[in-house]
Amino acid sequence: MRMTNMYLKTLREVPAEAEIPSHIWLLRAGMIRKLVSGVYGFMPLGRRVLQKIEAIVRQEMDAKGGQEILMSAIQPAELWQESGRWYAYGPEMWRLRDRNDRDFCLGPTHEEIFTDIVRSEVDSYRQLPLNLYQIQTKYRDEKRPRFGLMRSREFIMKDAYSFDRDWEGLDKSYNEMYDAYEKVFERCGLTFRAVEADTGAIGGSDSHEFCALSEYGESEIAYCEQCSMAATTEKAACVDDTPDSAEMLPLELVHTPGTKTIADVAAFLGIDHKQTIKALLFEVFQQEYRYVAVFIRGDRELNMTKLINALNIPEHAIEFADEAAMGAETGAVGGFTGPVGLRNCKIVVDSELTGAKNLCAGACKEDYHMLNVNYGRDYTGDIVTDLKLTKEGYPCPQCQGHIKITRGIEVGQVFKLGTKYSEAMHAYYKDENMQEKVIVMGCYGIGISRTLAAIVEQHHDKDGIIWPLAVAPYHAIITVVNAADAVQMQLAEKIYDELQKEGVEVLLDDRDERPGVKFKDADLIGIPIRITVGKKAADGIVEYKMRGDEKSTDKTASEATAVVLELVRPYI
Ligand SMILES: [Zn+2]
Repeated sequence: MRMTNMYLKTLREVPAEAEIPSHIWLLRAGMIRKLVSGVYGFMPLGRRVLQKIEAIVRQEMDAKGGQEILMSAIQPAELWQESGRWYAYGPEMWRLRDRNDRDFCLGPTHEEIFTDIVRSEVDSYRQLPLNLYQIQTKYRDEKRPRFGLMRSREFIMKDAYSFDRDWEGLDKSYNEMYDAYEKVFERCGLTFRAVEADTGAIGGSDSHEFCALSEYGESEIAYCEQCSMAATTEKAACVDDTPDSAEMLPLELVHTPGTKTIADVAAFLGIDHKQTIKALLFEVFQQEYRYVAVFIRGDRELNMTKLINALNIPEHAIEFADEAAMGAETGAVGGFTGPVGLRNCKIVVDSELTGAKNLCAGACKEDYHMLNVNYGRDYTGDIVTDLKLTKEGYPCPQCQGHIKITRGIEVGQVFKLGTKYSEAMHAYYKDENMQEKVIVMGCYGIGISRTLAAIVEQHHDKDGIIWPLAVAPYHAIITVVNAADAVQMQLAEKIYDELQKEGVEVLLDDRDERPGVKFKDADLIGIPIRITVGKKAADGIVEYKMRGDEKSTDKTASEATAVVLELVRPYI
């Protein structure tokens, strides 16, 4: 491609909206353009990188027996109502209605659609196992779209769905996909970690998230330095403190004026935060009950995902309660709520509290706390479970080690769905004995556009992007220092032709620009190999440089061509 013909607009300034490197560099390098908040288009160079990533994904999916199809982004509400997710998905789902008042959504994911296909076309065990996938545009109406492609409202995703005869079959399919994902992200040049994850709105049993390590990642990862334990902090189990063997002391009401927080009351009474019970009050939007009071030790933090899972409600169906309104119905008192004396609400207790003794809790009375509150004697929970958010230094749930915390960008996730969708939507097959059996499913996603952003997060410097060869929009760029010089242009054209003939993707910077501008652009757009044709062209000498290198080396044109070919051959 000659740069005189190329549609490329690089930016000298950092766009005001861009905060993180991938967003900044992708905009500045003219790879993406914003249409509206959270919605981006891909310009020629960006489109080429997307296609490279897609090709890698296709190869690894096909290698595992996946078959590509392409379904519509528009999905009828009826299928989502069948699975129960029309309500469960909440405001993130982009809903629309046709001229006949029929409801549709722009698909945030495709479990229902794939299940629908398979239930109507698969009836025999002979047709299973099956793995179908697509690379397609998805929609999620994010509350706070940000970070460019990282959290956008429209994005490109590869989603695959496996259909098996039984759970052993699913285990095998899951492991195959896990393996394919490792290969995909390795080939894309990402440093990543596969960690246990919550199944969220998708549902199912086991799940792993593939996280590209990055300080700007929105996934927090807890891992152990001594063993293989690694999970998102949403998912990571927490170890309860050892139960206290002290005698239970009598309940005591104490006057604690104005001490509305754990810190206040602990300071006022001169006790450790560990000796207190923290109350968190919620309103839930569903029928059986309206209010939820959560109790957890004062020094711990509540893990919302664990709470939502314990309550078995969708994420959007819970909010912090209005304390006055809740108080009127349940006896809760803002800043002084404790588990003793509460009524008309669901009480959820962190498992650790059952073994703790003689704690201080709110007395459900303004300016009063209770001392020596004990689980079992003074209160019980409707639900008792681990609600703790893990933190750096907490004990590892699997060994004697300590938890470390890091951040990552979720670029892929695999789920064992089991029979959640196939049961709800009646996807059955007949086994060898003509018995009806439910199909066992898995689903597997890769955020293609997010992977592109993650690659930039991990591969850039102060001058721009440094694409790994496997996904670079072009492998090499030939920069002609003076395009008006016939000798320089002639040599550049010769190298350009030779490399193209061999299948190398080459840019020829033949623009009438100052060399400084050309070098800056080459660095900005991150082409891995640069050949500069300048004054020494008369002697057949060029400068050869890798994008990440400090200095260039002189080579004859044919040496340079040979080196490029050797480097690029594995990628063409
Ligand atoms: Zn461990």
